[in-house]
Amino acid sequence: MNLSRKLEQYLPQVALEVIWNIGNRASQSGQQLYLVGGIVRDLLLECPNFDLDFVVEGNAVTLAQQIAASSSARTMTYPRFGTAKLKFDAFAIDIATARNETYARPGALPIVTPGTLKDDLSRRDFAINAMAISLVPESYGELVDPYHGLNDLQHRLIRILHPQSFRDDATRILRAIRYEQRLNFNLERETSQLLKENIPLLDTISNDRIRRELNLILLEECPERALGRLCELRVLPELALSPKERGWLAEKFQKARSQHRTGSLAQLYLCLLVYPFTPESLEKFLCRLNMPGRASQMLRKTLNLKASLFLLGGETMKNSEIHHLLKDYAPVVLQANAIASDVEVIHRRLVLFSNELRQIAIYSTGNDLTRLGFPPGPETGEVLKQLLKAKLDGSIKTRAEEEKLAIELKTTEAGTARTQPRRNRR
Ligand code: ATP
Repeated sequence: MNLSRKLEQYLPQVALEVIWNIGNRASQSGQQLYLVGGIVRDLLLECPNFDLDFVVEGNAVTLAQQIAASSSARTMTYPRFGTAKLKFDAFAIDIATARNETYARPGALPIVTPGTLKDDLSRRDFAINAMAISLVPESYGELVDPYHGLNDLQHRLIRILHPQSFRDDATRILRAIRYEQRLNFNLERETSQLLKENIPLLDTISNDRIRRELNLILLEECPERALGRLCELRVLPELALSPKERGWLAEKFQKARSQHRTGSLAQLYLCLLVYPFTPESLEKFLCRLNMPGRASQMLRKTLNLKASLFLLGGETMKNSEIHHLLKDYAPVVLQANAIASDVEVIHRRLVLFSNELRQIAIYSTGNDLTRLGFPPGPETGEVLKQLLKAKLDGSIKTRAEEEKLAIELKTTEAGTARTQPRRNRR
């Protein structure tokens, strides 16, 4: 099968010119060049994908250096791994030397040696990801498909290349589920059986690798599908959501997608994912994923706010009271709680804070108060707080009103009492 028409149809002209150039170079030095991996699968499925991964039977590092020397591309080379990245103005490509991998034991990092394209494809996860397209002029566009990935695409199947595959690398269990759910394919019968049998081998996988795979799931268009399936198959004991919680999650993820404007949608999904957890189950989850400090903090804060939400349910609340309760939470934590909360008044107040109250600030600074005769110290901070409170509650608006209130606070008894350091107040 020749896919040169598909390449022209789906890739931009600049990318095609780069491909022709590298293909010519490789051919002139007697090397074979191929496009590999997800982009081949997606071209055949007619899905957009500009993630250009090349494999060369030869030497990727010297090939990349030759291309960089005769073009505007910048190159980053990794001779130890036989790989290189070429950065053009509009896009980047990865070139890898064809490699052979063997695994000493389940979960171990592979032992890598140079190999042929066939070797390189044989180390891949699924047949649909183990196809290549030749890019040298003599065979330009020819599909190389030793594992019958095209047949699997036609039958909508995810199939491992050999029965040891999940033993070699159990992260493929998570990857299989991700592709199954993304593409709406089925696990091929033996793959499905081996996947289930090998679930315990995920214990041999490092926390960091599990986290990376879970992150890839969160970057999917509808992550709730793969997450639901992980729970259904009991793949990760730390992610044990009941069918009811999975239904809840699907509804909230959908809401998150439709309401999300800025920041990372994957982070928002993560906050919602842990929302049904208890603090104890959250700690187990964080530990299993070796979650970095900042992300752990974000997730703990999500549950802290969840536990305090009832404080936002009062019949009447001043804006300054809402501000006081929410001011220390990150936007993503507030957004997750707003999406998760089904109590109308609580939802409304979370949104009010995020959209309006958080942005309200006073004009005055500590220096302005010193100019008005306040001695520098904690009193100044207290007055600034009083000014913000008054502004939040609408009793002052302009800079002049702010200054007037500051002077009143300084001269009135109430002001004196309010400006006492906090520890001296009752
Ligand atoms: P995407 O999954 O987002 O569509 P992709 O198919 O390019 O992109 P990557 O995760 O970028 O997937 O990996 C590139 C290729 O490397 C895959 O297509 C697959 O062939 C191979 N690969 C990645 N991870 C593994 C793994 N754990 N085991 C075997 N092969 C893998």
